Amino acid sequence: MGAHFIVVMCRLVDGSGSERGPIRTVLVEKEPGTVPVGVTATPIDKIGYHGMTTYDLHLQDVRVPSSAVIEAFAAPGAGGHDFAAVERGLNIARVQTAARAVGLARAAVEDTAAYLLHREQFGQPLASFQAVRFQLAQMAARVRQARSFYLDVAASMDAGDLSPVDAAMVKLTATEMAVDVTGQALHLHGGNGYTTEHSVERYWRDARLTTIFEGTSEIQRLIISDRLLGKVRP
Ligand SMILES: Cc1cc2nc3c(=O)[nH]c(=O)nc-3n(C[C@H](O)[C@H](O)[C@H](O)COP(=O)(O)OP(=O)(O)OC[C@H]3O[C@@H](n4cnc5c(N)ncnc54)[C@H](O)[C@@H]3O)c2cc1C
Repeated sequence: MGAHFIVVMCRLVDGSGSERGPIRTVLVEKEPGTVPVGVTATPIDKIGYHGMTTYDLHLQDVRVPSSAVIEAFAAPGAGGHDFAAVERGLNIARVQTAARAVGLARAAVEDTAAYLLHREQFGQPLASFQAVRFQLAQMAARVRQARSFYLDVAASMDAGDLSPVDAAMVKLTATEMAVDVTGQALHLHGGNGYTTEHSVERYWRDARLTTIFEGTSEIQRLIISDRLLGKVRP
């Protein structure tokens, strides 16, 4: 709501009735704190990711000048479609999401280690039970592995050589790891994990989003398998 513009991807129609016009990107300018004429914005109540408000936007007869079409997004040889530019942005966002997932999982491991040392059952700290020690060790190793992978892909990105398949692979593996590790961390907090008194419930809720946005895990598997096996032509 505080933004100065909304970026809208839409299909251009030419009056011929065809709904398969090129996908273009349009900048709809606005005053911060308001929505443009013709736009309604309803906040969506989410289960996590509360650092940012998400809106359900409806556009009806919104008028913009032709100069609002972002020409810089038009990819040469893409038939006037902007999707290639969006894909390039998504590749970067996928590496960033992998980093975010690693951060959540790492925090979950650190909080769990502290909790296991502090919480006593059967007259001893939980940290003395080998079953939970080994579980935490496995969790920490998976976080470390994902961290190395995303740093490696991020270094390629910084060098201007980001592979879309690498972006998909790191997003897929780091986010699926984070969902699993934060879930295990919540479990290792026992009943306390299912309360809002410990941060682990937030790590778990926020990790759950990372396998959904910037393309779900299935979309990442689609990108990877298309590269390995070629696209399936119906
Ligand atoms: C908090 C939040 C913030 C967001 N922020 C943004 C944003 O800033 N900008 C933006 O553009 N979008 C944003 N999104 C949208 C987000 O990117 C999409 O929700 C996400 O990509 C999934 O698309 P969808 O919701 O349409 O799911 P759908 O495409 O309807 O998918 C539903 C299910 O079907 C599966 N599925 C779909 N197609 C296939 C297939 N071909 N093969 C196998 N399985 C398939 C999916 O994996 C999923 O499990 C946000 C979403 C959330 C929740």
